[in-house]
Amino acid sequence: MDKKEITYRFVYAERCNMCGRNDFKVLGKRLSQHQGRNPRQKMGITTTVVQCRTCGLIFANPLPIPHRMADHYEVAVDQYFGEHLKEIPETYFQQEMDTFKAIYPARVGMRGLDIGTGLGGVMKALVRNDVDAYGLEPSKSFYDYALTRGFADDRLFNQSLEEASFPDSFFDLILFSAVFEHLYDPNQALVSALRWLKPGGLVYISVPSNRILVQLLANLFYRFKGLDYVSNISPMHAPFHLYEFGKETFEENARLNDYSIAQFDFWTTHDYVFAKPSPVIKKITKLTRTDMNMTLWLRKNG
Ligand SMILES: [Zn+2]
Repeated sequence: MDKKEITYRFVYAERCNMCGRNDFKVLGKRLSQHQGRNPRQKMGITTTVVQCRTCGLIFANPLPIPHRMADHYEVAVDQYFGEHLKEIPETYFQQEMDTFKAIYPARVGMRGLDIGTGLGGVMKALVRNDVDAYGLEPSKSFYDYALTRGFADDRLFNQSLEEASFPDSFFDLILFSAVFEHLYDPNQALVSALRWLKPGGLVYISVPSNRILVQLLANLFYRFKGLDYVSNISPMHAPFHLYEFGKETFEENARLNDYSIAQFDFWTTHDYVFAKPSPVIKKITKLTRTDMNMTLWLRKNG
């Protein structure tokens, strides 16, 4: 457990960030560290986890926002990634690029923007597929590392999405790969991305689902023990997931922000509990649609 001192503001949401409605269901409490089987024996503070009844978005209310964002995210590259993860395989993100090419008409001089570049794997995949690659990386340690991997400083910027500015209708593709669930205001991030996108352009988003099998089972376990804890999100400890999403979240948001869902998939990479999921668990996951993640391709209307 990380016991360093962090100052938080706790901000109550009157409206759902993604759909704008104000009807929430309380799911339970979430501790500021991993809860395990016996959260009663753990130290920390809790916030309330709620779910929007209209669009299914799960979030902390109040939402704990660190005084310094670096308290959550400024970590050394070596501490975050093991040595083997720093080498990016040639096939990294190629499947996603193939999907992009299948659903977007090829043009000369296409531009792509990766939000939260990390080590630069997605930018490399863009370059490999003849897309002019731009990137935003707010963490100084990751930014400096990515520059040493050959990205130019007129393509990769040490900025958050909130700080960045690009011309309107500039990009063909904007990517939020394992990023969107970390943003404090995801709706505003989408509004900015859609403004920078050409009409007909695509936004790629991969996010945690609001119906994950292991979390549903963990919540049931807490319920049986008479506890009001839930295992959803992690607003005050790594990996700092602030939101979990349903397909309905984006269907509602699409109406507000004038886009349509071009493609949608569920997927699970690995499970924290079932290291090697049995075929039975895989089948249950598929039948109940309780995969860990969702991938969405959103197309700007017009
Ligand atoms: Zn909502």
